[in-house]
Amino acid sequence: MKRASLLLALLLALPAAGAAPAKKPVSAAGKAACDLVVVAGAALPMDAAFTVRGATAVAVRGGEILAVGDPAAIDAAFSPKARLERKDGVLLPGLVNTHTHAAMNLLRGISNDQPLMEWLRKFIFPAEAKNVSPAFVKAGTDLACLEMIRGGTTTFADMYYYESDVAASVEKAGLRGVLGETWLDFPAPGHANLEESKKVTRAFLEKWKGHRRITAAVAPHAPYTCSKETLLAAKALADEYGAPLLIHVSETKDEQKQIREKYGTTPAKWLDAIGFLGPRVLAAHGVWLDEGDLALLASRKVAFSHNPESNMKLGSGIAPVALARKAGIVVGLGTDGVAGSNNDLDMLEAMDFAGKLAKVAALDPTALPAADLLRMATIDGARVLGLDRLVGSIEPGKRADLIVIGLGNAHAQPVYDLPSTVVYSSKVDDVSLTVVDGRVLWDGRRVATLDEAKVLATAKEWREKVLKSLGEGAEKR
Ligand SMILES: [Zn+2]
Repeated sequence: MKRASLLLALLLALPAAGAAPAKKPVSAAGKAACDLVVVAGAALPMDAAFTVRGATAVAVRGGEILAVGDPAAIDAAFSPKARLERKDGVLLPGLVNTHTHAAMNLLRGISNDQPLMEWLRKFIFPAEAKNVSPAFVKAGTDLACLEMIRGGTTTFADMYYYESDVAASVEKAGLRGVLGETWLDFPAPGHANLEESKKVTRAFLEKWKGHRRITAAVAPHAPYTCSKETLLAAKALADEYGAPLLIHVSETKDEQKQIREKYGTTPAKWLDAIGFLGPRVLAAHGVWLDEGDLALLASRKVAFSHNPESNMKLGSGIAPVALARKAGIVVGLGTDGVAGSNNDLDMLEAMDFAGKLAKVAALDPTALPAADLLRMATIDGARVLGLDRLVGSIEPGKRADLIVIGLGNAHAQPVYDLPSTVVYSSKVDDVSLTVVDGRVLWDGRRVATLDEAKVLATAKEWREKVLKSLGEGAEKR
């Protein structure tokens, strides 16, 4: 970029409307070339000052944000290959889902209204043992990516099997992912024992090393499904590659009981005692973390994924989100998988439920206000995944992961307080634009990277196969 246009870009990045030199004439020839300009009627860039902007434009080149400013100033400074306008919408950074199991989209709602341990042992683990293959994982992840792209989620953290196939699907769909190969003490799809888990996961980490949108991770399932040996082997491999470690921690009261009976302490304290905790660990759920656990996680710089809908639907309890944030733990939001614990990947709903759950738990309507919920779904989610230098806010130099949520529908009008409208009124179908790494994945009419009809037809075919595998009784359900 030339010095003059660099200066202009810096000026345009300033949030104050008056700061952009819109009146300065810039000749067409003097305009900087860029790939895309997105214009919206309002914006929540999720910068540190939590700026709430009126009409805003963003210029994008090479997948990165060049400038953010008033539309007239951006139009005067840039000559884009494509210009997309959403005058009735609010521009936000893409939403970050910090915990899910994407391929389980093929099992959406297969078993409901069950306690977690029963649900896992009687339905999920057997259904997975009979069905999960690279083809299953591809079809399920395609379906999840379709749902996420249309719903404004641009980055997600995944824990599943055949994660290299998950990565291939995510790569093609155009999303950003932190994808963890899941380890268990019993045979998992794709690896029957610890040696195989190490081998498969090492190959996965090697294959996706340095990818622009995919971060390969290691995901020992939980302290109650993984022994000390399994957990420490997962940690050693993650340490070798500087990879994230994704794990479920303190999800249910039953887990607390099991771990106390086995090790005489809480799951978090036991994980620390064996040397597992550290800054690359992401603990999902944390419903039953006590104050000592929270202090410990804060001191070890462990990140936390809060999954309000899953915790409500499985009757797991209410995670101590306010206490965790107060202790200095970064908390992101997640949906969890859709097989029975949510049953969708809707991050707008996750914000809404997280807010209302915190308020009713504390009998305090000021608990987790809209601004904090938006932070948890964007910049704090990016922090949780170690990606906040790249995504999570709309600022020059960051990757262009942007969404627009339409505000024109009856359920969103009129707008008095923009953050509250987005959190408490907006619906997933209001998302009218999803851009990841500068590429338009959803323009409000079609998904650019996936054949929607084919993905849905394949999902329906898999339903038949899954029901057949579970036997007569299941087929009649
Ligand atoms: Zn989970």
